[in-house]
Amino acid sequence: MVTAAILSAQTLDATVNKTTPTLFAKYKTAKDYANADIEELTDMIRNISFAGNKAKNIINTMKAIQEKYNGKVPNKMEELIELPGIGRKTANTILINAYNVVEGIPVDTWVISRSYRWGLSLNNDPDKIERDLMNVIDKKYWHNWAYVVKTHGRAVCQTVPFCSKCPVNKICPKNNVKKQL
Ligand code: SF4
Repeated sequence: MVTAAILSAQTLDATVNKTTPTLFAKYKTAKDYANADIEELTDMIRNISFAGNKAKNIINTMKAIQEKYNGKVPNKMEELIELPGIGRKTANTILINAYNVVEGIPVDTWVISRSYRWGLSLNNDPDKIERDLMNVIDKKYWHNWAYVVKTHGRAVCQTVPFCSKCPVNKICPKNNVKKQL
């Protein structure tokens, strides 16, 4: 979970999904990753963006989990974001999927661009965007907001949106956005 979350930053899901089966077959525990050879790990994830940095972050994160948390991934936001390579987006993803704990909204590239398009946040910084979204979206939707945005984005709200075919075009707040779509 932690490994996949670190790998997924700025990388397509399909690319991560192609890489993880081999990786998970070789490394099964935090200790396995903590003791991994960085060159070997980098080579195994070479198709992932920033492979060298991510390999280093995975190893250092797993070392910290081994040493500070007895091999168990922490379940608190403030502890997760102290780990190398883990920001709020990754921490939110881990908390929601591994622990069913909802502290915020994972802000990925889909959420960033569609938040702007829909006028929900005009900020560029993911943490500020998350704050803006948390102020306007009911908490019961936080856990799957990123998933819904991505699914809707792929279906109709694409780079060039198919607004005439969109099932929510009558309530879409895009008309309130001052800047061009
Ligand atoms: S109407 Fe639908 S497709 Fe168009 S911008 Fe809004 S959500 Fe996206």
